[in-house]
Amino acid sequence: MSAPGANGHRLPSVDAVVRSEEGARAVVRFGHPATVAAVRETLAEWRAAKRAPADASLLAAAALERLAEAAAPSLRPVFNLTGTVLHTNLGRAPLGPAATTAAVAAMRGPVTLEFDLASGGRGERDDHVRALLSTLSGTADATAVNNNAAALLLALNSLALGREVVVSRGELIEIGGSFRLPEIMTRAGVHLIEVGTTNRTHLRDYAAAIGPATALVLKVHPSNYRIEGFTAAVPAHALAELTRARGLPLLHDLGSGVLIDLSRFGLPREPTVAEAVTQGADLVTFSGDKLLGGPQAGLIVGRGDLVAEINRNPLKRALRLDKIRLAALAATLALYRDPGRLAARLPALGLLTRPEQEIRAAAIRLAPVLQAAVGAAFSVEVVPCRSEIGSGALPVQTIPSAALAIASRRRGAGRTLLELARALRNLPMPVIGRFAAGRLLLDLRCLEDEPGFAANLAGIGTDPGDAA
Ligand SMILES: *Cc1c(COP(=O)(O)O)cnc(C)c1O
Repeated sequence: MSAPGANGHRLPSVDAVVRSEEGARAVVRFGHPATVAAVRETLAEWRAAKRAPADASLLAAAALERLAEAAAPSLRPVFNLTGTVLHTNLGRAPLGPAATTAAVAAMRGPVTLEFDLASGGRGERDDHVRALLSTLSGTADATAVNNNAAALLLALNSLALGREVVVSRGELIEIGGSFRLPEIMTRAGVHLIEVGTTNRTHLRDYAAAIGPATALVLKVHPSNYRIEGFTAAVPAHALAELTRARGLPLLHDLGSGVLIDLSRFGLPREPTVAEAVTQGADLVTFSGDKLLGGPQAGLIVGRGDLVAEINRNPLKRALRLDKIRLAALAATLALYRDPGRLAARLPALGLLTRPEQEIRAAAIRLAPVLQAAVGAAFSVEVVPCRSEIGSGALPVQTIPSAALAIASRRRGAGRTLLELARALRNLPMPVIGRFAAGRLLLDLRCLEDEPGFAANLAGIGTDPGDAA
């Protein structure tokens, strides 16, 4: 003897579910075939679970939920409250109105991507960034590709294919797990010649390694680590003297290349691209979406003959920038014409220079809102913290900030802190914080939309422990 509906024969037909009010709504939103498929899956699931019979509209609602879930994009905007401003996993630099407007215009219709309006003939895609990049870095020429890894790959492959590239052992970096300099060099078709030791490399080490097969010397800015203690590295200018004497190019990978001195904004000093050029680099490579504050891109600036060689490489085509990012990059670079207003116009710089008191004031305003949302099982406190610049830039130097620190008040019943963190990530606009010393920290440096944040918290729901 089975309970009514347990074997499924009392469940409504696919057709009845699709024709119900909710079913019709699903058809309008997702189309007939997808709705029928979702209804079939839902019915099969209910049958398998031996669920009690339900009317067609209830089943249709379940199918609609299934469809909405499947249709939700996986690439979603989030609140980055990790305290890492240029968070690589969260898309690095946010773009401002100048860049997004230019990008949207480029997306919508035809643009002068490779078209010269003056002559009516063919233009070059690099022309949109070449002049400004060259001016800002003090070089003869410039080009842009997909990202800095591509810039390095292309520069090495163009100038040193089948030949040797000399690098200090203290500079053989790994960035973000997948970018490892020795592996990039292998794929670029160049032979890595390591010189010196992990902590100390001298000019004589480079001098001894240079031979007839050497194509160039590579210097890498150790952006995401520091070697401290008994150390020695050869300054770029000394290395440049050596490479010039041997008739070899010096390629300097700056990583998070900055175009102007950021210490004028109260930020830690990071070598500028122009400085690397002044110190004698023949080519400098750097990222567009790190401290520069633009879209993902790899910039190469330097000697005209070397950039021309890079542009002749067929790989350039495979690594080039699309019109959307090129538009955003050109608009971002244009902001550098007026450094005085840069912090107000470049979101990345605006966030990095946000005063601690302002962030703290926001934390004080939002603490009661967050406390009400998370419930009595958790305490919410305003605490000082340190933000990181991110994407490997200046990892040791952090900037003072303020956070909402959430701690669990009880053991056993109720949500754990991990469950709360998950609930925050499940909000309509996910909230991403970081754990520190048993607390969940929400660093408010990158929070710009306070009302939006507060309204979003309403979706967190009641604590199952409270409800019990
Ligand atoms: C970040 C970084 C890279 C890689 O740049 P992407 O733009 O992420 O490809 C290469 N070299 C250095 C020194 C870096 O800091």
